[in-house]
Amino acid sequence: MRIVTRPVYIPRQLRDTIESAANHRYYSRSPMPQSHVSIHCPHCGLHTAVSPAPLCVYELARYDMKVTPLPDLPSPPMYSQAGVRWWMGKCNACQRPILVAEDGIWILPPPQPGPVDNAIPEPMKSDLQEAKSCLAVSAWNASVVMARRALQTAAIELGAPKGMKLWEQIKHLADNHLITAPQKDWCDAARWVGNHGAHDTEPDVKGGVIAITNVDKVDAEDTIKLVELLFQTLYVAGNTAKEQLSKRGKLKP
Ligand SMILES: [Zn+2]
Repeated sequence: MRIVTRPVYIPRQLRDTIESAANHRYYSRSPMPQSHVSIHCPHCGLHTAVSPAPLCVYELARYDMKVTPLPDLPSPPMYSQAGVRWWMGKCNACQRPILVAEDGIWILPPPQPGPVDNAIPEPMKSDLQEAKSCLAVSAWNASVVMARRALQTAAIELGAPKGMKLWEQIKHLADNHLITAPQKDWCDAARWVGNHGAHDTEPDVKGGVIAITNVDKVDAEDTIKLVELLFQTLYVAGNTAKEQLSKRGKLKP
């Protein structure tokens, strides 16, 4: 079979645009936004920087496809929609493509959540991982509900009676010096946001009425951070301290 290919033809207008971009003139008044996007890759899960995908053109001949790389550009071509600039990036680890809006306000496919420390015991670890997975797909209400669940599981694991409500369990832990005063504040804050996500209502403090609202991104991220920080101090730091004390024969039975 004879394979027929034709030389790659780049329209004059595209060629001018490419050359102009290569000369840093085209975007000089509007810097490209992609320079510092770091994520947990949606494909391979590693935490890597996203770099601009190299531009190439291809043409279909009768039996073959010819791919021709173009000279390196200072930035990739962009698509602008409603004033938001989208660009094609690639994971520096696995080289697979990722679509990014501006400096990462949206990323497609959505990045994977970061890992949860293996020193956090089950079932708290799984609950926190699920909360972070919800966060990664913008499910803000679901993420804080899972964070609240992780919190309650931890409270029981720390010795709070099962039959109590969560606010009572947190108070029990604080009263018995099983958590510190700052940790009690983290727990209470996470509990309130978790309640908001679960019951889709919150008191309108100014108006004194109950308003139906959703948890927003910032609230969800803050809540996950609080619970993760709590677990880090309770379990990860606790284990490290025990290891070091044990090594030196200073661990009290
Ligand atoms: Zn990757």
